[in-house]
Amino acid sequence: MDQENTKNFIELIIDKDNETGKYGERVHTRFPPEPNGYLHLGHAKSICLNFGIGKKYKGLTNLRFDDTNPSKEDVEYVESIKRDVAWLGFSWEDRLYFASDYFDIFYKQALKLIKKGKAYVDDLTGEQIREYRGTFSQPGKESPYRNRSIEENLRLFEEMKDGKYADGEKVLRAKIDMASPNINMRDPVLYRIIHASHHRTGNKWCIYPIYDFAHPLEDAIERITHSICTLEFEDHRPLYNWVVEEWDDPENQKPQQIEFARLNVANMVMSKRKLRLLVEKGLVSGWDDPRMPTIAGIRRRGYTPESIRNFCERIGVAKADSTVEPAFLESCIREDLKLKAPRYMTVVDPIKVVLTNYPKDLTETVVADNNQENEEMGMRLMTFSRELYIERSDFMEEPVKKFFRLAPGKEVRLKYAYIIKCEEVIKDADGNITELRCTCDMDSKSGSGANANRKVKGTLHWVNAADAVDTECRLYESLLRTDSEGDDGDFLSQVNPHSLMVTQGKAEAGLGDFKEGDKFQFLRQGYFVIDRDSQPGHLVVNRIVGLRDTWAKMQQKG
Ligand code: ATP
Ligand code: MG
Repeated sequence: MDQENTKNFIELIIDKDNETGKYGERVHTRFPPEPNGYLHLGHAKSICLNFGIGKKYKGLTNLRFDDTNPSKEDVEYVESIKRDVAWLGFSWEDRLYFASDYFDIFYKQALKLIKKGKAYVDDLTGEQIREYRGTFSQPGKESPYRNRSIEENLRLFEEMKDGKYADGEKVLRAKIDMASPNINMRDPVLYRIIHASHHRTGNKWCIYPIYDFAHPLEDAIERITHSICTLEFEDHRPLYNWVVEEWDDPENQKPQQIEFARLNVANMVMSKRKLRLLVEKGLVSGWDDPRMPTIAGIRRRGYTPESIRNFCERIGVAKADSTVEPAFLESCIREDLKLKAPRYMTVVDPIKVVLTNYPKDLTETVVADNNQENEEMGMRLMTFSRELYIERSDFMEEPVKKFFRLAPGKEVRLKYAYIIKCEEVIKDADGNITELRCTCDMDSKSGSGANANRKVKGTLHWVNAADAVDTECRLYESLLRTDSEGDDGDFLSQVNPHSLMVTQGKAEAGLGDFKEGDKFQFLRQGYFVIDRDSQPGHLVVNRIVGLRDTWAKMQQKG
């Protein structure tokens, strides 16, 4: 495929603008989050798109906080957003902006509109404004305050700013067209009164601009060329253009709004407001709970920036809404870690094995590959002795058909080590299996024993008991039940009660030396990351994803 064909529709628009010289070949994008929560995967798509275009066209990309609603915003969110954008691998350099820095400019622009007879102060209540607005099939009705004089409007707007009125008592509206077929053009509200302290401007203001007024002005002030947003703003574009038309750009290079389809992932909540509910209701441990689809959550879960960028690249940029399968996201992290992550042995749910014929005071070392698919990662030594752990699920007292793992009287090979045979099952008073007594074929050692090549059907992972590291394994399922209807409706009742399962496992000794964020494949168990809750001698690991690639399977089935 040649380069041209791989361009998305936004890049094609930019190419055209560069050809016609619309912006003198400038390309300037922005990522404009509202700091009212932590960013999620959907935002990752927008970040990759905006910063990606900036890079590709050797243009500029601003990180701009759209902080125009003090009632929901907070510096904690500002800091988390900066961290997340940087983690994804993008740099705004010195291009960090806050909409709140433009409050004076917005105010002046509003005065200008009033003076031109294009804005007025309205006393209707919010509810009345909605009633008067009409419907798709019915034109709106003009407010009785619509024809106030310019002088009166100027006075009232100033009084609004000076705090003379309570929240909701008055608003400033654009005077456009109450009969417009586009409801957004029926005298939209530009400013409302909110008596709340702002995280940057404190109590200086008690009037705050509406998104539809502030956002195009922010773009115009920063001389953005291509203002990329999600499809739900398509109907707002005429208003965007109206606001921008009223703004005097010295070179008449008005920004243009371009909409693309938002990212939806099946069975994932993709809204800051809803994610905040999960945090506030204590249904997760915080914004960075590894089950959360927030960038902070997926980072702690063990996803890499590369895997997320790759994911965003591959889902593409389209004009029509669609939903991506979580299995596709999972396949991106598997692919990234496959050759990079060392492969270690950890028993997630251990059961003790005692090798009755193995000398009591003997400790051997066995050689293990760090990654069978990537020889460059070399080898390591593992200790082996009389007492070991294997996975509880790798033993069945009464094996079902085709169970090739350990069972009474049956043999298995312990990976890189010996063939063992189960001779006796030890149980506690309640009938729980506490230990397996096995014999070891001392001639079967992998690589060196006389019976090294003797074949048995099953090979198990294991850990040497004496120097094993206690390891809390956090295993995850989807945060929402997979039989639920997306994230709509009463999504809180859809929370999966089994989304987190904790086991007390045992890891091979070498794992004790690793640090937070290090990623591994644990043989037969999946990819894991070391969590920040780890303590010396007590590891905590999160399962990033299992080994089985359900996405690849889905592709094969078609
Ligand atoms: P939320 O409802 O989760 O708060 P938002 O769109 O209100 O989302 P903003 O902080 O205003 O959040 O968004 C910053 C940018 O991220 C916007 O340009 C927005 O279009 C984009 N964005 C938000 N959600 C998605 C998504 N699911 N897919 C792609 N882009 C998104
Ligand atoms: Mg929002």
